[in-house]
Amino acid sequence: MIARVTLEIALRKEFAYFIPPELADQVDVGSRVQVPFGARKVLGCVTGLAEESAHARLKPILKVIGAQTLVTPKILKLARWIGEYYCCAPETALKSVLPEAVRHEQASWRERLHVRALPVNGELPKLPKRQREVWRILEERPELPLSELLALAKTTAATVRRLEDRGLVTLAAEISERDPYARYHILPSQPLPLNPAQAKALAAIITAMDGSPKPEVQSPRSEVQSPKSKVQSPEAAGTQGSMFDVGCSMLDVPASAPSLAPPSSPSTPRSSTFLLHGVTGSGKTEVYLQAIAHALEQGKGAIVLVPEISLTPQTVERFKARFSSGPLQTLVAVLHSHLSAGERHDEWHKIRQGRARIAIGARSAIFAPVEPLGLIVVDEEHEHSYKQEEAPRYHARDVAIVRGQMEGAVVVLGSATPSLESYYNCGKGKYTLLQLPERADDKKMPVVRIVDMRQTVRPGKAVPIFSPQLKEAIARRVEQKEQVILFLNRRGYSTSLQCPLCGYVAECPNCSVSLTYHRHENKLCCHICAHVEPVPAVCPNAKCRNPAIRYSGVGTQRVEATLAKLFPHARTVRMDSDVLKRKEDYRRILGDFRVGKIDILVGTQMIAKGLHFPNVTLVGIIYADLALHQPDFRAGERTFQLLTQVAGRAGRGDIEGEVVVQAFTPFHPAIQFARRHDFEGFYAQEMEFREQLKYPPVGRIALLTLKGRNEEKVKFSADYLKQELQKAMVGIKDLVVAGPAPAPLLRAETYYRYQIMLRAQRMAALSQRLAVLIRSLTLPDDVTLAVDIDPVDLT
Ligand SMILES: [Zn+2]
Ligand SMILES: [Zn+2]
Repeated sequence: MIARVTLEIALRKEFAYFIPPELADQVDVGSRVQVPFGARKVLGCVTGLAEESAHARLKPILKVIGAQTLVTPKILKLARWIGEYYCCAPETALKSVLPEAVRHEQASWRERLHVRALPVNGELPKLPKRQREVWRILEERPELPLSELLALAKTTAATVRRLEDRGLVTLAAEISERDPYARYHILPSQPLPLNPAQAKALAAIITAMDGSPKPEVQSPRSEVQSPKSKVQSPEAAGTQGSMFDVGCSMLDVPASAPSLAPPSSPSTPRSSTFLLHGVTGSGKTEVYLQAIAHALEQGKGAIVLVPEISLTPQTVERFKARFSSGPLQTLVAVLHSHLSAGERHDEWHKIRQGRARIAIGARSAIFAPVEPLGLIVVDEEHEHSYKQEEAPRYHARDVAIVRGQMEGAVVVLGSATPSLESYYNCGKGKYTLLQLPERADDKKMPVVRIVDMRQTVRPGKAVPIFSPQLKEAIARRVEQKEQVILFLNRRGYSTSLQCPLCGYVAECPNCSVSLTYHRHENKLCCHICAHVEPVPAVCPNAKCRNPAIRYSGVGTQRVEATLAKLFPHARTVRMDSDVLKRKEDYRRILGDFRVGKIDILVGTQMIAKGLHFPNVTLVGIIYADLALHQPDFRAGERTFQLLTQVAGRAGRGDIEGEVVVQAFTPFHPAIQFARRHDFEGFYAQEMEFREQLKYPPVGRIALLTLKGRNEEKVKFSADYLKQELQKAMVGIKDLVVAGPAPAPLLRAETYYRYQIMLRAQRMAALSQRLAVLIRSLTLPDDVTLAVDIDPVDLT
């Protein structure tokens, strides 16, 4: 037998290897293997099997890594789609579907020595004092990890070894699973009664789930054997287009892009995608929980994606609490970048072994090997963190929809502020819209007041941070022992250091941005490349040397400092990525806030999402229009989403909430629609603009960014690429090739960046042609090209 192997080193092709007889029953599609490559030994994944090969002398596979095939055929199929749709090399796509902690050859379960007491025949021999103490503990707990026993008995392993010599105990290595949530006490929870809107939404989801095909009962072994029979032409190994022989005709309709659902045919599993649009506090999670329960009843599993930032212990606990006991009991595995490599290894394998039927995680959890899969939930589906910013540049929400189609799983996208893409797809009938228009507990939506900051500006004076209205509101709420959240999406103290005489601005030597002043560290920092430099005492301009250089612009540190002056008795804490150096900090600060140890919480977008604090009655947004003036067609959408999400933190308890929004452009539609909690109004207005320019969701875009240290070369390469694009794209309907132009952030981390933007009606044909072009394109060695299909970050 021959195995076709995709190697981890980037070569964009498969290689054929001979499977030695002794490994024959271990090698399968999806196996991780070590193979010789030149003089080296490299790791790879078996992506196809064949009876014979055109090559006479094949090298053998050296060894198989892991007892179980790691990449299931279904995940392999998904990886193939990612490689094709997002124009990246197959090995890059393959790498992303397996967590680092699992891919590694050394990765394995942790083994610990366990001590077990043996039955005593006759009378217990007389033991020395130390050994007697150990034995006493073992009489209580006849089996426990050695380390625990030593801690309890305050002794060394030698004592236990002596008991072993006497035949009283045995010592053996046993797998000891790492449970990242072992320290948390999780009380079981029961399904909550649903209000009519929740019940209706759940019923629609359940109906779709019942219409999905029943899972086939198969052992993991037999299910991965099926691809063997489909392999026909071994010569195809190493040629494009023959990757991943798992028979995925459906995916050849690259329609899988979310807005282009493929027509369902008898061979295509039926799938349904729902958009659950519920206002903040409307009880979306309870709908998810009951839908997951239904999947478990069907004998299937579920994947829940949440943005990294909302993946708090609080969120995880809600899911664990519901499924930790009762007839539907299952393990809930958490895939999270904050876990240790060992914890991630164990969590992933709990899913692979089928012991955990629910996987919760951020972006990459979409590749969790849940099998069979009944439901995928993408919470806060509008979140940009679902898009990976390095290759493969996939969008986890879109991958979720494709995976749902492939595996016949129902997909539920949830948000209080849906992305325009998803809402548009509802209008087109591709998704089903479900609405939760009211807060679940009859709490009112908070009152939003907009303050026109232009009226606070006094000639010759700096713009104040707090308007009189916000100052008064904070004073009142703090006085009443209620809590306040203040939001500013900009960290640091001042955004720039400027000389009023000569106009000098401190800029990063590596990036085209100004440096931010951080007062605590008394340093200037770049927020792009993390460059740090001391604060100059005088203007660095040799001709100027003005000692009165000035800071302008406000960051969270300055808000915190100003609050300390205005409200010296209030307990104020700042929460942004400068404060949160350790993973426990986030939890600790939120815990303190929950129990009322903090009066005012100041923070960046980190505090915008999903937090539920009943005693928060005032939310202040310092500068609402910060994000509005960015060179991005989604600036308005982002502002609307952010304001709505932040405002949603207010009034979650018994006292009605209040939101004060300070803005310099108070009549901007994004701000006005957010004030009225009017998503439909915002959508209609924003769509007019997108329609005119054929921007997503009306058209589709691909962003090509060239970067290099030599600006001339980058520019030249961009011009060349444009010519090639125009040749390669002939015949694509409505194609617009814009650029090349300097990227909004021209220089980042010492690299110059130029962009070309492609816009078209459909992405499928475009990304196929792009992939072909990129393979044949020759760029200078020091210029690199990044292709971003459906980009969310245009800088
Ligand atoms: Zn100067
Ligand atoms: Zn920089």
